[in-house]
Amino acid sequence: AKPLMQGKKGLIMGIANDRSLAWGIAKTVRAHGAEIAVTYQGEALLKRVRPLAEQLGSELLLPADVTEPASLDALFAEIQAKWGRLDFLVHAIAFSDKEELKGRYIDTTADNFQRTMLISCYSFTDLARRAEPLMTQGGSLVTLTYIGAERVTPHYNVMGVAKAALEASVRYLAVDMGGRNIRVNAISAGPVRTLAASGIGDFRYILKWNELNAPLKRNTTLEDVGGAGLYLLSDLGSGTTGEVLHVDSGYHVVGMKAVDAPDI
Ligand code: NAD
Repeated sequence: AKPLMQGKKGLIMGIANDRSLAWGIAKTVRAHGAEIAVTYQGEALLKRVRPLAEQLGSELLLPADVTEPASLDALFAEIQAKWGRLDFLVHAIAFSDKEELKGRYIDTTADNFQRTMLISCYSFTDLARRAEPLMTQGGSLVTLTYIGAERVTPHYNVMGVAKAALEASVRYLAVDMGGRNIRVNAISAGPVRTLAASGIGDFRYILKWNELNAPLKRNTTLEDVGGAGLYLLSDLGSGTTGEVLHVDSGYHVVGMKAVDAPDI
């Protein structure tokens, strides 16, 4: 059989380092033959991202900040010039003020609410609109979300509200783009220790809680997320759109802490 991603060209946004969920997806789809364009958010991250892009054999490594439309104009112009089309896009981007990823949701400021929504939710829609004309042979878009969108989890606060809106966007975009055979899905990952996660209060406790209570009794790995990415981005996922796929060791099905779980 031909490699699952052979001949597919995709843009992966959100690699900060080798712990990033986007890196887990990039590695897996590359191993299955994808050609990957990589972005980095600002010069500070280039040092870490460049060697990773080299490992992926990327011929495109471009700056992109979703709060700067000109950087996205340049990014998509470059993809158009180099490839003339796009088959997939991974959006693994989120941001909120650390000061509001602890304490009470009720204290969210208007300013941070808007910024969180813009970067963590609207940017996916913005990128989908930009990618659509390049996806001339159909396509697949994937974003990353968290169970804090569905239920209250400690300290997730405004990010949970943004993820809820992001998941709703996945459904609306799936309808908007389905006629062009462009699929839109989200991976709802269990907690993974990344740069972004380090901003969330009591993250160690959250990891431990998930490990002890998830059906698989372990935490989510980059390989878990990569495998789900491969499914959704390749033709294996050809019938799946508008979906929020949980990749969390099954944690989302649990309603109560197991009686035999040790106290934490
Ligand atoms: P990460 O820190 O490795 O990645 C976050 C990325 O967002 C970084 O690459 C950063 O550069 C990028 N970013 C932030 N603001 C940006 C902007 N204005 N323009 C462009 N890029 C910007 O952390 P991660 O955990 O891999 O996060 C990736 C996605 O996965 C996020 O959407 C996150 O909410 C989601 N997620 C993470 C977890 C977890 O526990 N780590 C669980 C579920 C979902």
